[in-house]
Amino acid sequence: MQADLAILPDYPLQALNTFGIAARARAYLKLDSVARLAAVMADPALAAMPRLLLGGGSNVLLTGDVDALVLHMAIMGRAIVGRADGCTLVRAGAGENWHEFVQYTLAQGLGGLENMSLIPGTVGASPIQNIGAYGAEIKDSFHSLTAYDLATGALRSMDGAACRFGYRDSIFKHAEGQGLVIVDVTFALPDAWTPNLRYAELAQAVMDAGLAAPSAQQVSDMVVAIRRRKLPDPAVIGNAGSFFKNPVVSSEQCQRLLASHPALVHHAQADGTEKLAAGWLIDQCGWKGKGIGQAGVYPKQALVLVNNGAATGADVLALAQAIQADVLARYGVALETEPVFI
Ligand SMILES: Cc1cc2nc3c(=O)[nH]c(=O)nc-3n(C[C@H](O)[C@H](O)[C@H](O)COP(=O)(O)OP(=O)(O)OC[C@H]3O[C@@H](n4cnc5c(N)ncnc54)[C@H](O)[C@@H]3O)c2cc1C
Repeated sequence: MQADLAILPDYPLQALNTFGIAARARAYLKLDSVARLAAVMADPALAAMPRLLLGGGSNVLLTGDVDALVLHMAIMGRAIVGRADGCTLVRAGAGENWHEFVQYTLAQGLGGLENMSLIPGTVGASPIQNIGAYGAEIKDSFHSLTAYDLATGALRSMDGAACRFGYRDSIFKHAEGQGLVIVDVTFALPDAWTPNLRYAELAQAVMDAGLAAPSAQQVSDMVVAIRRRKLPDPAVIGNAGSFFKNPVVSSEQCQRLLASHPALVHHAQADGTEKLAAGWLIDQCGWKGKGIGQAGVYPKQALVLVNNGAATGADVLALAQAIQADVLARYGVALETEPVFI
């Protein structure tokens, strides 16, 4: 192994995952440049090791110790890099904190990302599951990204079509995207910005504040306030945000469910399908505030599983599986998990 790479053996990961699961990695490297990544891949012993790329650790569930070299993304930098089609192009290194980057764009007078304020994690992970909140997804403001191809050592520029964004999905969650490390992401933020108040709770908050024409910064502040009210702060109680995706079902299935469960929470999608509120389904099964071992369902939001102290990955898995089984038995709906299981 190359001595200058500062690989740290048997590294504790508890502080590097927002669930706060106590697990250890076989080895750890802070990845602060593409050159360092290239050096890892040029070292036969390191290149042969299993690898785990980690950003903020806010969308992973560590199910045990990680028998791999953890590459901790820390490529920094952010700047306005150009203009295209009435938009300003802003780029950030993959290791930049997402919320701080959103605040940076707002400070430049650029709107577009404000509805996604306070989502934990890094800029580099934002395309992985096409992060979204309050009626916006990054695919709406995405321009391109640079990815390092671990197989060839080449840098690839990818536009939105190449990333194949979907609901909490992209190419990076599938086999074709597995060997790609995102090193920077560029967003296109429009001159002609208008607030996106499609999400009823946000629109209501803006109205309650008496803001007829809110600025992007004001929308961001409202989003932050709503999120602080509703979601547990990982610094206080370990969690990975929504543990399940909202299931998308056919309109026929939704109608059948409504016939027996008239209060079913559902949102019509542009393609005719219906998105069901997974939190409502879990709540109806009586799971809110309950748990297994040290893993629990957050009392204020059933979509969020929490670490009540010393939860293991196995506790969280057992709880998730019990919830999935109950929702399937009662509603015939299969809940998919959102975090990446490691
Ligand atoms: C309290 C809370 C609230 C949340 N709210 C939301 C929300 O509203 N909307 C939402 O969409 N998500 C939400 N999340 C989930 C999470 O914040 C996002 O998925 C975030 O983008 C994860 O970033 P990360 O850097 O922590 O990724 P990590 O958890 O470190 O990694 C996630 C996955 O991406 C891979 N990865 C990370 N960086 C890179 C890279 N540079 N290149 C290639 N692969 C990479 C990892 O290998 C892993 O498979 C929430 C999480 C928490 C804890």
